[in-house]
Amino acid sequence: MKIIDGKAIATKIKEDAKRQIDILKSKNQRIPKLAVILVGDNQASHVYVKNKEMACRLTGIKSQIIRLTIDATEQNLLDKISQLNKDITVDGILVQLPLPKHISEGKILNSINPIKDVDGFHPDNIAKLLLGQKGMVPCTPKGMITILENIGYELIGKEVVVVGRSNIVGKPISLLCLQRNATVTMAHSKTEDLKAVCKRADVLITAIGQPRFFDKDYVKEGAVILDVGINRDENNKLCGDVDLNDVRDKVAAITPVPGGVGPMTIAMLLQNTIEAYFHREGIQ
Ligand code: NAP
Repeated sequence: MKIIDGKAIATKIKEDAKRQIDILKSKNQRIPKLAVILVGDNQASHVYVKNKEMACRLTGIKSQIIRLTIDATEQNLLDKISQLNKDITVDGILVQLPLPKHISEGKILNSINPIKDVDGFHPDNIAKLLLGQKGMVPCTPKGMITILENIGYELIGKEVVVVGRSNIVGKPISLLCLQRNATVTMAHSKTEDLKAVCKRADVLITAIGQPRFFDKDYVKEGAVILDVGINRDENNKLCGDVDLNDVRDKVAAITPVPGGVGPMTIAMLLQNTIEAYFHREGIQ
């Protein structure tokens, strides 16, 4: 059984990103810039934003962190986004979710210029994903596909079961697998006989947010598992949706938590920011 080292794959991608930035610097060209907006004082969000800022710094991508207080209005945020949409030095705009309850997430995400939408959550980018057109692809699903590519796994004709149907993970990863000619099943909390459905999977993708929910009874012999869940167990220890110890003798490969899919998300954000830059510069 192979434990897939997502951290190592992410490191390689970040090094590639740094090389791209170094080339731009050596040619005295404009450097890509990511703007991140954080509203309120959600502690987890503060940590995520700090990690993004740090990743930008290590790669050489410029970052601008805009912190708005919890009492900021929806209009304050829309005004800020409008300003960033117009700012020619900004290539990527990311609004850290979740937003405070008085602000409509949909309205805010819709207001980001799709070309700068490095999270890939704007309806235009989601439509492009559905239609198989080139657009910004959400970071976590893009990271999962990159993992499969890195381990040389070919999706054509394979049975993929995705458990969880969120807009940020379950739906986009299903579309990406379908684009690569897999046979895709989307499962969720209303799915009947989830074990039987999961047991069909050559690739099982778990994104439900339930600590160690999936044991060996859900897994086909020789399956590849991508575990997206980030949970805390009863001892406050980080764990995935899959009980790795229980499934380890049955699977061909699995992403651990932590150190699997998680580190790929930021690496993909850097990649999307560089892509947005080249797109805006008319280079790609
Ligand atoms: P979410 O919005 O939390 O939704 C959970 C999904 O799982 C829903 O579709 C739900 O079904 C389904 N579900 C819940 N319990 C289930 C069960 N017992 N059996 C079958 N399906 C069940 O999903 P999310 O935002 O994608 O997050 C999922 C997990 O991924 C979380 O642990 C989150 O922290 C993690 N995550 C990790 C990353 C990363 O970078 N690695 C990024 C994003 C999210 P219904 O639709 O029927 O309610």
